Amino acid sequence: MRIIEGFKSIPPGQLLRYEIIILSCTLFFSPFLFLPSLVDNPDLCGKVCIRRFYLYFPGMSTADFASNVQVSSIGVYVLSLILITTFFFGRLWCGYICPVGGLPEVVSRTFSDKWKIEYRGLPQVPIRYGYFSSYVFLMPMFGISACTLCNFITIPRIFDVMSGNPKGLAFALSAVGLVNLSLLFLLGFFATKGRAYCQFLCPIGAMDGLVNRLGAKLRFTRRIRVERDRCTGCNVCARNCMTGAIKMENRIAVVDQLSCMSCNECVDVCDWNAIEWRTAHLEEDPKRKKKGVEYFPPREWEAVRMPVDTPPSKKENLKLHWQKLALCGFFVMALVFVGFTQPDGERKGSATPSAAVTNNSIPLIAKD
Ligand code: SF4
Ligand code: SF4
Ligand code: SF4
Repeated sequence: MRIIEGFKSIPPGQLLRYEIIILSCTLFFSPFLFLPSLVDNPDLCGKVCIRRFYLYFPGMSTADFASNVQVSSIGVYVLSLILITTFFFGRLWCGYICPVGGLPEVVSRTFSDKWKIEYRGLPQVPIRYGYFSSYVFLMPMFGISACTLCNFITIPRIFDVMSGNPKGLAFALSAVGLVNLSLLFLLGFFATKGRAYCQFLCPIGAMDGLVNRLGAKLRFTRRIRVERDRCTGCNVCARNCMTGAIKMENRIAVVDQLSCMSCNECVDVCDWNAIEWRTAHLEEDPKRKKKGVEYFPPREWEAVRMPVDTPPSKKENLKLHWQKLALCGFFVMALVFVGFTQPDGERKGSATPSAAVTNNSIPLIAKD
């Protein structure tokens, strides 16, 4: 009964999204494995892995990086395609297609909210990018494999178990498997809206969020945008947002494009047509509608809110600076770190793979 009620509460516009996610599971996972087998790969690891080729090992040279790219060549193409699509249309991969992020969301819909943990109020942006920087730089330095906390392994292995593949059971009983399954339950199935792993730990989500935020500045890109004059500040969209990307600012909805996944649920639940997935161009015939009543306010759709009526307060200015400084500081530290950990041969222009990498690197193809 609870499952039926859970699915009855889904807005009609979201049903199609769930159907695509379920279809995507059948295309990517056992027993069908349709898309991975098209490129002669057993699952989402190996040459289709989109989460490892950019990891930095101390002493890594450009030749090592090129070799990583070659090993997971298809993963590089897939990741590029995801990021390009995101730049122009928003995070359609994460919101509509990714079976790894989508499955926990669908499953979590079937559980009662009273059993779920609410993570959406946590400061997700600092946690996500703090984890992402340690994922790219620190974890490889200490020899921790990127596969240790990878839901791109965990969820396919669950399907392996269900379809009788012994490698699924072996994974589920291993230490890494148990840690990952616990994370899947805590940050997925039993998280409110099921997307806490995407919010905090997924490196693809971290990169995709940055590209989403960057593209949102341009008026011709499609994004979830709010029309400020229409928004009544009712908070319904924020309560329904699966990633906690909407906050109310002076009783107007503001979307954080670093966290929004373009799922369109906020669009489906807004009674005032005040939030849409669209470009920022002005329309000829603006209307505000609710139950037969029409208004004609001027319209200016915004993906990233820039206060125009009131100048930003000192506090807001400080906040903006803090974010920009942190980002610049991170890039400078990353460059310094890479520069100092280069072997002498590489600094002088050698293109041969370094001994440090050969000794320390973790094989790109995951071993099961
Ligand atoms: S954040 Fe990662 S796991 Fe979540 S939907 Fe996007 S790619 Fe998939
Ligand atoms: S965008 Fe719509 S649902 Fe969200 S606060 Fe404004 S009026 Fe309410
Ligand atoms: S802001 Fe809207 S589209 Fe973006 S994640 Fe939240 S509900 Fe989905």
